[in-house]
Amino acid sequence: MAKINPFEIVQTQIDKCAEILKLDPQVTAVLKSPMRELHVTLPVRMDDGTIKVFHGFRVQYNDARGPAKGGIRFHPDETIDTVRALSAWMTWKCAMVDLPLGGGKGGVICDPKTLSTGELERLSRAYMRSVFQFIGPERDVPAPDIYTTPQIMAWMMDEYSAMMGKTQFGVITGKPLAIGGSKGRGDATARGGMFTIREAAKALKLDLSKATFAVQGYGNAGYYAAKLCKEMFGSKIVAVCDSKGGRYNEKGIDPEEALACKEKTGSVCNLKTGKPISNEEILELDVDILIPAAIENVITEKNAGKIKAKIIAELANGPTIPAADDILYKKGVHVIPDFLCNAGGVTVSYFEMVQNFYMYPWEEDEVREKLDRKMTEAYNSVLKTSREHKINMRQAAYVIAVKRVVEAMKLRGWV
Ligand code: GLU
Repeated sequence: MAKINPFEIVQTQIDKCAEILKLDPQVTAVLKSPMRELHVTLPVRMDDGTIKVFHGFRVQYNDARGPAKGGIRFHPDETIDTVRALSAWMTWKCAMVDLPLGGGKGGVICDPKTLSTGELERLSRAYMRSVFQFIGPERDVPAPDIYTTPQIMAWMMDEYSAMMGKTQFGVITGKPLAIGGSKGRGDATARGGMFTIREAAKALKLDLSKATFAVQGYGNAGYYAAKLCKEMFGSKIVAVCDSKGGRYNEKGIDPEEALACKEKTGSVCNLKTGKPISNEEILELDVDILIPAAIENVITEKNAGKIKAKIIAELANGPTIPAADDILYKKGVHVIPDFLCNAGGVTVSYFEMVQNFYMYPWEEDEVREKLDRKMTEAYNSVLKTSREHKINMRQAAYVIAVKRVVEAMKLRGWV
C-alpha cells in the first residue's frame, strides 16, 4: 500500500478550509507552504569510536502570529514531509488556543531505542548546534515530541546556553522542573484533552462516570490520558496498546499497572490481564471514547465505517485522514480534532515560556486553571462554529485558526 503523505493531507485540509472561508487564492498559496526550512547533517561519535551521520530538519511553517513553536521528534520514519505537516498543524494549534505563537516542528531520523545515553546526548547537542542560528526565544522555540524527553530538552537548552554564554531557559520548553520547566507540563497534553472531552460529554449528554475508554499509544499522552480519565471522571479504561500490541479487559485496566509493565517489559501487550488486542482492533472496539494517542494516519476510509466510539479524542497529531473524516461525520461520531484536543501541551509550553521570561514560576493549580480556561473556550468555539455552519469539528477548528493566521498576515502586510 502506498504510504500516506501527511503533507498532502495538510494541503487537502487547507483547500477545504479555503473553500469554506472563500479565501483569496493568493492567501491560500501562502498558507500551503512552509515559510522556512532547514535541513541539517549531524555527524555523531558513537560509543565504539565510529562516526555515524544523522539527518535532521527544522521547519518554521508560519510565524505571522509570533515566534514559531513546536516539538522535535526523534523517529526512524521521520521525513521532511512529516515535519512540514506537523509544523503546519502547530500553526493552527497555537492559533486555535489563541497563543501569540506561530508553528514549527523539528525532527531527526534516528531510532533512540538503539542509542546509549551518551550517544543520545551527543546527538541532541549536535542537533542544537546545527539549528542554533535558526531558533531562539523570540524566533522559534522547540519542545518534546515523540521519543524526545525532558532530559533531551535539558541537554539542548544547555548547549544553546553554552553557545550564547548565558543561561537561556526560554529557548526550549518541556524542560525538567529544576531548570526552568513548568509545573503541570508533564501531563498537559492529556489533561488539556480531558477538558475537551468533559465539554464534549456535556454537549452530547454523556455521563463520563459510566463511560468506557480505549487508548491507542502509551507514551506521554496515552499514559496520562488513561490515568486522568479515571482520576478526573471515574471512567473505565478497557483497552490500551502501544506499537507492539495491547490488551483488552472489559472489567477495566489499571493505568499504573500498564505503565509498570511497559517500563519493565517494553510493552503494555505483556500485561497479564484480559486478552490480547492489536493496534488496529483497538480502534474498532465498542467503547464510548476512543483516544488515538500514537501516530498519524491510523483512521482511514478502510476502518472509519467500523468505528463504534461516540467520541474520538485525537491526542495524536494527524491520526485521521480526510476521507475518514467524511465517513465519521456522516455516522455522527463526534471528533475532537487533533490541533484542538492535544493543544494542552503547547499551551503549558507557552506558560513555561512566560514563566521563563518573568523568572517567576507558577503553582500547579494556577497552570491547570489557566489551561482549563484555554481549552474550554477553544472547544466551545469550535462546537459553535461546527453547528452554525453545519461543518465537521475539524473544519470548524480550521476555520477559526486559519482566520486568525490570515488576519495576522494581513496586518503585517504579507498578503
Ligand atoms: N509536541 C507537542 C505538540 O505536538 C508540543 C509542542 C510544544 O510544546 O511546543 O503539540
